[in-house]
Amino acid sequence: MAGEKEKSYMCAFCGRWHRESDLTDYCGYRVCWGCLQVETFECEECGKRVPRSEVATFDCDGVEICQTCFDKHYTRCDACGLLLRQDKAHWHTKDGYEHPYCDDCIRELASENDKN
Ligand SMILES: [Zn+2]
Ligand SMILES: [Zn+2]
Ligand SMILES: [Zn+2]
Repeated sequence: MAGEKEKSYMCAFCGRWHRESDLTDYCGYRVCWGCLQVETFECEECGKRVPRSEVATFDCDGVEICQTCFDKHYTRCDACGLLLRQDKAHWHTKDGYEHPYCDDCIRELASENDKN
């Protein structure tokens, strides 16, 4: 069947028509690749494609993690804001609460405590 045209569908985000091969299934909608990049991201932790609005990380973190995974597995250094895995963070009790610290900040904190 030469010359048979590939089916086109409308992208659920931008409303433009794309060939079927340029579209990806996202939550039951057909979405073009460009919109998928803009509107969603793939979480490093769970590997799921989630809406941009649910990103819990910043550009400078170098990874993109969804809010659900962040709450479950991640935290931020109390001193410098660095993204940390909860099991890799150094927990230090301050004002009756456990605060997470990165490698550098816990070292600094320890040396400050030594001075006192
Ligand atoms: Zn689109
Ligand atoms: Zn996730
Ligand atoms: Zn830190």
